[in-house]
Amino acid sequence: MAVKTLIPIARPVLDQAEVDAAARAILSGWVTQGPEVAAFEREFAAAVGAPHACAVSSGTTALHAALLAVGVQPGDEVITASHSFIATANAIRYCGARPVFVDIQPDTFNMDPAIVDRAVGPKTRAILAVHQVGLPCAIERMLDIARRRGVALVEDAACAIGSDVRVDAEWSPVGRPHGDVACFSFHPRKLVTTGDGGMITTRSADLDARLRALRHHGMSVSDLARHASDRVTFETYPTLGYNFRMTDVQAAVGRVQLARVPAMLARRRAQAARYNSLLASLAGVGLPAVPDYARPNWQTYTVRLPEGRDQKAVMQAMLDAGVATRRGVMCAHREAAYPRETWSCGADRRCDASGGPCPHLAHSEAAQDRTIAIPLFDGMTDDDQSRIAEALARSCRI
Ligand SMILES: *Cc1c(COP(=O)(O)O)cnc(C)c1O
Repeated sequence: MAVKTLIPIARPVLDQAEVDAAARAILSGWVTQGPEVAAFEREFAAAVGAPHACAVSSGTTALHAALLAVGVQPGDEVITASHSFIATANAIRYCGARPVFVDIQPDTFNMDPAIVDRAVGPKTRAILAVHQVGLPCAIERMLDIARRRGVALVEDAACAIGSDVRVDAEWSPVGRPHGDVACFSFHPRKLVTTGDGGMITTRSADLDARLRALRHHGMSVSDLARHASDRVTFETYPTLGYNFRMTDVQAAVGRVQLARVPAMLARRRAQAARYNSLLASLAGVGLPAVPDYARPNWQTYTVRLPEGRDQKAVMQAMLDAGVATRRGVMCAHREAAYPRETWSCGADRRCDASGGPCPHLAHSEAAQDRTIAIPLFDGMTDDDQSRIAEALARSCRI
């Protein structure tokens, strides 16, 4: 059989401009967190309309620092989705707190606000709301719950750079932020990449100051401020911190990537629209739902398979046809790292005592088992898309 070229699931947009930016940072002699990080923060804040942005080493350390900054402590509970990349739930456990998992809406794959509302209890310190694969969640409802119940709202916007959400009848970028803080990732699977890296945005100068201390060992002054000072400066360590710093090499690359976002969005929105029309006639295939309050960046295009189709068999048939796919987003509660005693069920607290599988995360489990992501990336051609649509049609008929 002739070997077809494989259409990958995703591919970052990287060229000589990123190489030149990295070289500039390296040759400047300042490679750790410094002037490039500061410039990247300013540009990122402007791009999403946030008063403050703090760069960190990954989306995961962004979540960890954000939860600590809003006051999450051992013994607290944080309400979140099990149906997310595992870093979402892990960040809660790094703080010594307990994830309380709520189910998703079957159409948007985002946390169901009605269940979130019921899940808030006396130990709840925060809601960690995920904008799953870049589709904004019902943030207006989440904000209302957080305000009414007096808990913090942290946004896992790891995938959502460039997405917009409507709040109070007005559109604004995810990360403005709408909650107390929003966390982004620059892993290569996201639109903007720095290899690894993350960003935390907030409107609060106080939270921003806490985040800056947390990422730099709890130190009272930055290396850059000490270097720039004409006075001998002794630093102090008033609080326990971490090394969550981004390097200037990463930030230099990130600045180039950020400038590409408008063009990336235009391409992805056109590609998603083309998928919508190519796949509309496929009987039983569920296309992505976009609620009227959300304008996604289309980081990922996910389809629900027709009833009765075996996910793995469809994916194998697609791979045999030269098309890479991925199964639906994982569920943390199904992994060995999450034995039943490490989390609570947000739908029914008595569910904890019963042990065994949780019946209240059925939509989350179905989304993992019954959906697949198909390729969507900047260099994907119309021909690629037609080939993918044909492969999906054939693979679903098996
Ligand atoms: C990618 C991702 C993360 C983790 O980001 P890293 O930069 O890989 O640490 C967290 N949450 C979600 C929803 C993600 O997709």
